[in-house]
Order: sequence, then C-alpha cells, then structure tokens
Amino acid sequence: MAGPDAHDRYSFTAQPPNPPTIVRGDGVELITADGRRIIDAAAGAVVNNVGHGRGEIADVVAEAMRELDYVVPIWPTPNRLALADVLVERWLPDGFDHVFFGGGGSEANDTALRLVRNHHLARGEERRHKVIGRLPSYHGATLATLSIGGHAGRRDGLEPMLQEYPKVPWDDADALAGAIEAAGPESVAAFIAEPVIGASGAALIAPPDYWTRIAEVCREYGVLTIADEVMTGFGRTGLRWGHHHDGWSPDVIVSGKGLGGGYVPLSLVSASNDVVDPITAAGRNVMFFTYSAHDSSCAGALAVLDIVEREGLIDRAGMQGSRLVAGLKRELGDHPNVVEGRGRGLMVGVELTGMTSAAVVAEALERDVWIYPAGSGPAVNDGLLLAPPMIVEDHHLDRIVDVTRQSIDAVAAR
Ligand code: PLP
Repeated sequence: MAGPDAHDRYSFTAQPPNPPTIVRGDGVELITADGRRIIDAAAGAVVNNVGHGRGEIADVVAEAMRELDYVVPIWPTPNRLALADVLVERWLPDGFDHVFFGGGGSEANDTALRLVRNHHLARGEERRHKVIGRLPSYHGATLATLSIGGHAGRRDGLEPMLQEYPKVPWDDADALAGAIEAAGPESVAAFIAEPVIGASGAALIAPPDYWTRIAEVCREYGVLTIADEVMTGFGRTGLRWGHHHDGWSPDVIVSGKGLGGGYVPLSLVSASNDVVDPITAAGRNVMFFTYSAHDSSCAGALAVLDIVEREGLIDRAGMQGSRLVAGLKRELGDHPNVVEGRGRGLMVGVELTGMTSAAVVAEALERDVWIYPAGSGPAVNDGLLLAPPMIVEDHHLDRIVDVTRQSIDAVAAR
C-alpha cells in the first residue's frame, strides 16, 4: 500500500517527507523510481567502497546461496574458510591469526568488548572491565556500544540504561593517562577509538604524535587498544587501515561497512594472538551471533575485496580524496559558515557553523547529491561527511564540491 508516507512503516524515527525511492544503483549513482540520478557522495553511510550495481558480486553471492544457506557459525564452510584466509594473509597485521564475524559494526564492537573482558579474565585480572572511549565518538547503537560512545544525539535519553565508563577528549592523549589513574588502572580493560572520527566528528583527525602517545600510555597501564575501523577500514582513508597513517598498532581491530561493501552485511573483529591465545587456553567462550559468517556473505566480501585490490582502489581513494579536499578548500576555505574542510583519503568532512547539517543535506538532495550528516556534539555540532565510492571520477568530485557550496549558500541565504 504505497503512499507518500509509506516509508514511515520501516522506521521508528520521523523521516523528512518524500524521500526518494531508490530502485537501482549504477557506479557512483543511485537511480530513483522516477528516473533521477543521485550522486552517492557518502557511499550510503560510508559503506559502498566499490561502486553500485556490480553484477559480478551479485552472481557470486547467488551462486554461494544456491549451494548453501544456513550453517551454524562454528562449522567451516568454503567461503568462511576462504575469507578468513584472505583477511589473515592479506589484510590483517602479522600475528593477527583469528577473525570473528558479525553482521554490522555495532555487533562487532560489542564483541570486541566481550573479547577484551575475556582476555583479562583468562589472565586472572578479574577487575579489568572498564572501557574508556572518546568525546566525540560513535561505536554503534546497541546499549553496550552506546555506553562506550560519545555521540550526544544517539545517546539522548538512554543514559540511565547505559553503563557509564570514563570518556576523554578526542585529541588529548595525556587526558587518557589521567582517566586511567582516576578510574583505577587495575579496573581498566581497554581504550577504544576511531582512527578518523566519522559520524560524530565529520572526519576529525587527531594531532601528530597523538596515537604513539596513546599506545605508550595503554602499554604502561596494561590497557588494550581497540581501533574501531568500521568506517576507516578496507582502504577508505587511502591506506589499508586508518591506523596505518599514524605509526601505531592496536591490539584489537574492528571493522564492517567496506568489508561487505554494501552488498552483504558483514563485520569483523580481529586481535593479536597475544590477546586471543589466553582466552583459548583458558577455554573461555566468546559467543557468536546466529548470522555470524553466513557463507554467502563471506562469498560477497571476497568478491568486494578482490575488486578493491584488483582495481587499485586504495591508492585511488588517496588520490581522489586529495582532489576532493583541495576542491573544498578552494571553494569553501573562507566561507563564514565553514569551520574546516579536512579528510584522509575518501573520508572527508566539512565542519559547519551557524547552520544545521540536516538543512544542508536536504538542499544537496534537492540538487541530486547525497551527503551524510555528521556531528551532534560534543566538539562538532554540525558537519557533513563526503565519502563517495572509491571508483569516483573527477567530474563527480567537481559536482560534489559545487553542490556542497551551493547547498551551504542556500541555507545561509534563508
Ligand atoms: N563504529 C563506527 C566507527 C561507525 O561509523 C559505525 C556506524 O556508523 C558503527 C561502529 C556502527 O556500525 P553499524 O551501524 O553497522 O552497526
């Protein structure tokens, strides 16, 4: 029973009226039921790294599903085995020999929390359970991941249901040492952070030396580091992992989004053998989810990662990201409503002042460009995330820059 507001049926959140109904994807564009072509300047929610409408991925997924539907996650299946091999051998750091799969980033971060807790329990450090996060940050929408996150809008009103762990400012490594001391070092299990802060920060990048100091502090206190690479992983920032820009090595890596590339829902947690081995030796259990590592999802992710490597999309993200940031600086560098344009690879942010991100996003959509609204406080109240598929071409980037400027101007003129 399609009506103008029929979309409200699949959400508990009031949505802007008359959203475009998308019927097809093609490269960098989404095609609406009435034939508009919308440039997907945010790869959805920073998900689609390889571009829309890749029939080859659909074929691989269909073929896998024809052979096999559901198999309990503890048993091997061909694509599960193959994906774990590709990740361990080609993507993860040396000494990260185990992966755990979830459906999305929230499940993966939730699992990372259970992983670090189990690690400390297995080593007899029973008091270590606190996980320190940053302000701002976003790690997911489950109660556990909202607890460790610092996205004001998404936590709003849920606070009584959240486990309150310490939070530190996003750019101050010495504050972490202070927070660990204040919490009692023997009670702190881990520190979690996004290498580039996405949804809550519009691509905030910490100062030079921040991460090496963070790693030092955590090592000193026996606190594990979790890199939340859900947005930054799999080449989005122009290197394989976001943390590769900063010369440090996390103990635990969490990712999602670009792994399935928008074709299959899949996320992962991996950790150094030093983290995992004690858990195995102690016979402790990190429970899977029913849909962990569905064979057809693993097949889809293998096809996505193959494209990323075969087409050189990681270098391309670096190159096109520089072009996008340069264009934004040129067009918006001295705009009174723009605090800063910044980014790493194709994870690019525009921080706004004096207007809401929602208003600018709505103007951009009128001009057939989808931009992801970012920020909600603290630190960044309103911002835009620009993160198109990594196959994006120069003419798309030029259009994205033009429309960003026109949309900000249109809101300013009201
Ligand atoms: N972590 C980060 C850094 C994210 O950006 C997101 C989603 O935007 C999540 C976790 C949550 O992932 P999901 O929405 O797939 O559960």
